[in-house]
Amino acid sequence: MLLELRKLMTSPGETLPFETSVDLSDMPFGGCKPVTEPVLAKGQVRNTAGVLEMTGTVETVLHGVCDRCATAFTRPGRYPLRAVLTTEPESDDFEDPWVFELQNDCADLDDIVTTTFVLNMDSKLLCSEDCKGLCSRCGANLNLGPCGCKPEPDPRFAALQQLLDKK
Ligand SMILES: [Zn+2]
Ligand SMILES: [Zn+2]
Repeated sequence: MLLELRKLMTSPGETLPFETSVDLSDMPFGGCKPVTEPVLAKGQVRNTAGVLEMTGTVETVLHGVCDRCATAFTRPGRYPLRAVLTTEPESDDFEDPWVFELQNDCADLDDIVTTTFVLNMDSKLLCSEDCKGLCSRCGANLNLGPCGCKPEPDPRFAALQQLLDKK
């Protein structure tokens, strides 16, 4: 969706609300395509002394497989949206990912929402921030509780134990 900003550009101090939904269901993350639901973005563009600043939120529900514990999960993903919109062409030596160039006084919301989403996604797709993962010895899912494996014995004590056993 294109957001027409011609009127806002000549009205310092004014704001323009926006709301859109973007389909990112083809976008791969960590070996799967977790963005099966529409990505909703809403917020506003504010003209601050001639600078167009966009703020808002981008949110969806992720359906993925955890990179750490290999469990399928569904959880909300919500990210802040912040962008500066400019009519100046971007210079190559200063490429700020949060600066977007306007085309014919319009902001390309699909492009901005997609970029925001990609830059905010973690490189690992996890079922939760503090996923405990799988036990390296028995493979149990540690999010469900301790697996019963004994902690790795300290090799120095193991040697001592062997000496004691010999006696
Ligand atoms: Zn997990
Ligand atoms: Zn274990």
